[in-house]
Amino acid sequence: MVALRPMAKAFLCALRTLWARQTMHLTHPIENDTCSDERTGQALLPVDLALDLGLDLVEPVDGLESLPLGKAVGRVLASDLLTPMDLPPFDNSGMDGYALRSCDTNSGRRTKLRVAARIAAGDNKSLVADLGPGEACRIFTGAALPRGADAVIMQEHVTRAGEFIVLSEVVKPGQNIRRQGEDAPANSLLLKGGTFLGPRELGAIASIGHAKVTVRRKIRVALLCTGSELKEPGEPLAPGQIYNSNRYMMMAALADPHIELIEVEAIKDDPASLGQALKKAASKADIIISTGGVSVGEEDHVIAQINAIGGQVAVMKIAMKPGKPLSLGTIGSTLFIGLPGNPVAAFTTWRIFGVRLAKKMSGVRQSPRALPQVVVAQDITRRPGRQEYRPARIVGKSDEGHPMVQLLDKTFSAKLSLICRADGFAVIPAGRARLSKGERLDFVYL
Ligand code: AMP
Ligand code: MG
Repeated sequence: MVALRPMAKAFLCALRTLWARQTMHLTHPIENDTCSDERTGQALLPVDLALDLGLDLVEPVDGLESLPLGKAVGRVLASDLLTPMDLPPFDNSGMDGYALRSCDTNSGRRTKLRVAARIAAGDNKSLVADLGPGEACRIFTGAALPRGADAVIMQEHVTRAGEFIVLSEVVKPGQNIRRQGEDAPANSLLLKGGTFLGPRELGAIASIGHAKVTVRRKIRVALLCTGSELKEPGEPLAPGQIYNSNRYMMMAALADPHIELIEVEAIKDDPASLGQALKKAASKADIIISTGGVSVGEEDHVIAQINAIGGQVAVMKIAMKPGKPLSLGTIGSTLFIGLPGNPVAAFTTWRIFGVRLAKKMSGVRQSPRALPQVVVAQDITRRPGRQEYRPARIVGKSDEGHPMVQLLDKTFSAKLSLICRADGFAVIPAGRARLSKGERLDFVYL
């Protein structure tokens, strides 16, 4: 469960108030770097600040589990893992060929060596005599290097003649040998705590002989889709109804091994049932994600119900397009993420905010927010005020080699089919009213 630290909370409150004071007097939004609603001029919280405030609401869960490697994929490594042994554990051949003493080949002229032994991967080299002057050992990739040998020559570079090989090159000491400990010496750091365990990491853990790994417990998430207009796919629609896209979109977004989706509910725009559902979810979830009902309309009851059941909303009214209604807060020790109802806005805010918040709670070590850049393929004008995540398609490459993107439809927060055609979101800074062809923007790949 998240523990909200009162000191941090007080500090964040002060920061918000300060920020609001500084920006509240702005009635006209059209200024660079001003974050405000483009229609009302109302001051809005810049995306980066909102994200920092949201992250400060979250503590990593402290429960741990020890899992067999085969069951740990996608889970989060609990703490730093040192290798207890050298990797590789012994000097071995990097090639199929012949192990030899490099000093025997120093002349660079024709060298003839007697093949005195044979070692394959898995053979015990101590059953093979030490390599003497003028001798070579038939060897295969991964086989332990015989004592006395200090290099391996590829089999393609020698001529075999009975029990002899003939070569005409100088072989350097260490050539084609994988030295003991060269990948990771004993007691060195193999993986950092907070790493997601994917194929690479699980391979590395197996290579040190661990059959189990300690990971953070899964975070428990409840998903509540609000809206009296919602019907489940498969049911007929009555006039005025639409299908509940957010449910399946968010279930897919949450289908991650470090997340356990403990509850999925669709709730009508009715304050009492909403309050009850929030209360029930807060009693067992680490995160409640709601969709819809966080705007300012008469049918938007989520924020009021969070307050009514003793929760607090710490972050709202964000200078993000789409996603202004995104709201973040807490109900006791449960994190609340109120996503907007429009499916594209819900998708985008989950991607930009929710993913990072959930990762922090799961104990994931996160890299800085550096995004790849793309070049815009057309001139555009827009109303400044909010940082925009505009769906875009990659249509080519710029002269400097950046992906060139075409920005799609201006109005898109309810157009799911549009984002299905996008390769990602081009990030337009809040203050920009126009962009010229050839300008660079950050890009979020989908
Ligand atoms: P709201 O944020 O509740 O005002 O909803 C904004 C828009 O998103 C409205 O047009 C809703 O009908 C639509 N919407 C809300 N929830 C969903 C959902 N689960 N699936 C599809 N559309 C939704
Ligand atoms: Mg609604």
